[in-house]
Amino acid sequence: MERKFIADTMLGKLARWLRIIGCDVEYYPDMDDAELVERAAREGRLILTRDTLLIRRRKARGNHFFVEGDHFRDQLRQVLKAFAIDPFERFLTRCLECNEPLLGIEKAAVRERVPPYVFASRETFRTCPSCDRIYWGATHRVGMAEEIARILDVKP
Ligand SMILES: [Zn+2]
Repeated sequence: MERKFIADTMLGKLARWLRIIGCDVEYYPDMDDAELVERAAREGRLILTRDTLLIRRRKARGNHFFVEGDHFRDQLRQVLKAFAIDPFERFLTRCLECNEPLLGIEKAAVRERVPPYVFASRETFRTCPSCDRIYWGATHRVGMAEEIARILDVKP
């Protein structure tokens, strides 16, 4: 079963990169520690944290992974290694805003919803069931894959 995470308020950038990789990571920039720990326990999410106070909370004690390093690149390397996550297996399969898995959508259904040059040049589209954003392969996708390969020192 896929592991589910919730990242503390200090780990927004790590959370975003984990979503790019396709990991299920909730992140709420304004959530207080008590609520975060509760939510993690309720939803079976492992807490990713750099907060030494948070991990002393009773419900966080057996349910956290302490992230080392202040830089998201070090953090990402650490998390991927610790959980043996393949960074390209589910690359860009999740909405970066909502954390929802993306669904395939017929090309014909996006005609009015993407720029004409995108519609003309792309064959596959995906959509987020929560926010209705349309995703398509684009140059930023290549840039993200290259960045991950650089961070992990692997081939994209
Ligand atoms: Zn979304």
